[in-house]
Amino acid sequence: MRLDKLLANEGFGSRKDVKKLIKKGAVTIDEAVIKDVSYHVDPTTSDVIVSGVPIIYQQYAYIMLHKPQGVISATEDDRHEVVTDLLDPYYDKFHLFPVGRLDRDTEGLLLLTNDGQLAHRLTSPKHKVDKQYEAIINAEVTEDDVRKFQAGVTLDDGYVTKPAHLDIAEQSEYESKVYITITEGKYHQIKRMFQAVDKEVVYLKRLAMGSLTLDDELALGEARELTDVELNQLL
Ligand code: URA
Repeated sequence: MRLDKLLANEGFGSRKDVKKLIKKGAVTIDEAVIKDVSYHVDPTTSDVIVSGVPIIYQQYAYIMLHKPQGVISATEDDRHEVVTDLLDPYYDKFHLFPVGRLDRDTEGLLLLTNDGQLAHRLTSPKHKVDKQYEAIINAEVTEDDVRKFQAGVTLDDGYVTKPAHLDIAEQSEYESKVYITITEGKYHQIKRMFQAVDKEVVYLKRLAMGSLTLDDELALGEARELTDVELNQLL
């Protein structure tokens, strides 16, 4: 990364301010004074000191977001608010992206990171990471549905789902509250699984992904960095 970009990202001022700092000899890299603003530095392996202050470089960020409805799981959209709009601008420099997608009308746990390896591990079908959701269904969910979800249901495109665990929490003739755990992430998967048994999801919230569970202290739209414990369990 260019030295002037690194310093600007790390909060040492505008691109113009940091150029001045560098030119006046305030920056050392691995103990050598560097006055070239376009010098390429790897902050993960080099010691960069600015006016006596060492840069503690953070390469990756890991954010838990309580996604509200109405927001798109993307980094850019022409028409709608996107999940990265909900984060503090401090995180812009990390170029975070959502790990997997929640539908616009789904709320709950969304992890954002710039760690591509972790994102791949959590989303690749090979790793079969559990995703747990709470759902409200517009009908009576039955033990027969539980068995069908366990065996695999056929979606509208002919795909047969992998075993999914369904727990019925509340049930009436008109509406049911369920918890469902799936290991895949097909497009609209849970909505299409219920369609396959002639029922409709009217509310969907993701509660957990692998070892990571939604912090119930986080209000809708709020975000926080993962704790060291949460991160170590995920990595
Ligand atoms: N399944 C869905 O149908 N929608 C989501 O957002 C997540 C899983």
